[in-house]
Amino acid sequence: MGFNKLLDMHTHTDNSPDGSAAIMYMCEVAQQKGLRAIAFTDHCEVDDYKQNKNVSKRIKQSYFESVKARSVYTGRLIVSSGVELGQPTYDIKTAEEIIAKYKFDIVLAAIHNLRGGEDFYFMDFSKQDIDKVMTQYFKEVLGVAKWDGFDSLVHLTYPIRYIKGKYDIDVDLKKYSDYTDEILKVLARNGKALEINTSGLRGALGDTMPTKDIVKRFKELGGERITIGSDAHKARDIGSGVEQTMEIAVDCGFNFITLYQNRVPIMIPIE
Ligand SMILES: [Zn+2]
Ligand SMILES: [Zn+2]
Repeated sequence: MGFNKLLDMHTHTDNSPDGSAAIMYMCEVAQQKGLRAIAFTDHCEVDDYKQNKNVSKRIKQSYFESVKARSVYTGRLIVSSGVELGQPTYDIKTAEEIIAKYKFDIVLAAIHNLRGGEDFYFMDFSKQDIDKVMTQYFKEVLGVAKWDGFDSLVHLTYPIRYIKGKYDIDVDLKKYSDYTDEILKVLARNGKALEINTSGLRGALGDTMPTKDIVKRFKELGGERITIGSDAHKARDIGSGVEQTMEIAVDCGFNFITLYQNRVPIMIPIE
C-alpha cells in the first residue's frame, strides 16, 4: 500500500524538557520525509503548570514558533500548533485557562502519572501493585475522556510501555476491558479521536499504544476519528511508524485519519 498523505499529529520540540530539535529544523526534516502535515504538541503537565514557571514559558515559545513555521511552510507542509496536556483533569481550571490562552489547532490529552505520583517512566514496577496502578490509570483516563476539552486521547495504555517494555511484565489488558470499553464509548459519543501512538514500535514494547485490538474495538463501539502520532522527541523519529500504522487503521476498518486545524477535525481519506 502506498500512502501519499502522511500526517504526524504528535511531536515534541526543544520546547519540551525531553525534546531536542528546533521547530524549523523539524519542519525541514518533515518535508524531506514527505509528510503532508505535522503537529507540534509540546508537553504541558497541567498538575505542574502553576508551580513550574518554565512550563508556561515553553508552551508560549512552542506556540509562537509553530505559528511562524506555519507561514514559512505554507504550500509545502501543513503545520498544526498543538499541545499535549498531561493530567488535565487534576486541575481542570488551569487546563481550560491554557486552552483559552492560545489558538491551538490540536489539543492532545494524556495521563503520565497518578495523582501526586511521578511519571510512569520513573516508577519501579518490580515493587508496584501493577493491578492497582492499571486500575487507577484507567479510571483517570476515563475522567479525561469525560472532560471533553481535548481533541485526541493519546497513548492509551501508556504504563504498559514501561511495565512490559522495561520490566518485561505481562499485563492482560482484557482484565480492564470494562474500563477501556467505557473510555472508547465516551470518545465515540463525543466525537473525539483516539490516537494510535507509534513510539512503542521503535522501542522495547514493539507495538503501538494502544494495540490493534483496542483500535478495532473503538471502531466497533462507534469511533470514527483516529489520529496517528510518532511522539517523536528528536527529528529523526518524525513520521516514524506512521505508514505501518495507517495499515493497522485500515485493517481495523478506518478509512480516514484525522488532521486538526483550529480545533476542527479534517478527515483525510487513506488511499
Ligand atoms: Zn505523552
Ligand atoms: Zn508526547
